[in-house]
Amino acid sequence: MANAAEKLNRAGRSHSGFVRIPYALMGQRVTRGGQTRKIGGAQLLVCSAIYSYSSEDKASDFTYRELGERYRLSKSSVTRTIRTALENNLAERGDKVYEYQFTGDAGDKSFLLVEEWLYHATFRIGDVEKYLTKNEIVVLSYLISFCRNKKRGAAFRGSVRHIARRLHLSPTTVTKCMTTLYAAKLAFCRGRAKNLYDLATYSVNDKLLREKREEIVKRAKGKSAAVRSADARTDRERYYAGHRCMAEQRAEQMNTRARADFAYREAEKKSRELDVKIGKSEVLNLPELADLRKEQEMAKRIMAQRLKAMNLTPDDLVPHWTCVKCSDTGFLPDGRMCSCYQPKGEGRS
Ligand SMILES: [Zn+2]
Repeated sequence: MANAAEKLNRAGRSHSGFVRIPYALMGQRVTRGGQTRKIGGAQLLVCSAIYSYSSEDKASDFTYRELGERYRLSKSSVTRTIRTALENNLAERGDKVYEYQFTGDAGDKSFLLVEEWLYHATFRIGDVEKYLTKNEIVVLSYLISFCRNKKRGAAFRGSVRHIARRLHLSPTTVTKCMTTLYAAKLAFCRGRAKNLYDLATYSVNDKLLREKREEIVKRAKGKSAAVRSADARTDRERYYAGHRCMAEQRAEQMNTRARADFAYREAEKKSRELDVKIGKSEVLNLPELADLRKEQEMAKRIMAQRLKAMNLTPDDLVPHWTCVKCSDTGFLPDGRMCSCYQPKGEGRS
């Protein structure tokens, strides 16, 4: 029965699930038919689904139809993306027909959380009802991730350039997506930025998002025990993913703040270059090793000084998990479930 519930959940019929898109995957280049280009929207989504639903000891097991239904992709598109994923070593086949294991590079494992109902909702843009494109959903989810989980009315402060770099999109694409999101009244921008580097304050329309989500999920949701049990599992996963996201983003914002300082930014860049050089020198036992280490110390000292001047500590730059026992993964090192899960109250309708 639990198996059936899982299956249902993975089929995504309730559209109440979510997918984790690793930031590192967004900039991935793939080769298809002899041409190398940046990973496409559908490709990114399918690889992220495999990433989200497989773990070290368990492969994801979507059928092509389930994947297609979940993300509104055509069967041929799913077939194509899976083949490309296999050819580019982003995934490998598991033991059974529909099993896939993620084998790509998820970088530092930080990811963007995307709610799956967004692929099924239409929004009024001008005088037509439209689905959002995959890029629009990614940009919107990025804003949501900053504006939610926090205080009411929270907003994201950044530039188009910043968003573009983080999501591996061109500034032109981000600007276009934003235009659609404004037209759909899904996002707002205060302090209109004059150029791509100008900071502006972005916020999302929580009320509209909540209403749309309810409409989509209610429409799709059955009342069977299997679906409810699957929902409980999704809730637990969302709880932890949300906490992780929050901690990672706080650290990211602190890093952005630190890097706004020219001297810090230069020293950090220098330190990173030295890391590589030192690594090489150690392996080859080169005579300049001692000098490189001295330079590294110097760079680190400058970084520490600049941080202090900005009232930041090195500790501010790394994620702080809510639960130190499981690092907000929900699982203890020995594989048991952590006891820190706090489901939302029963009072909700
Ligand atoms: Zn815990």
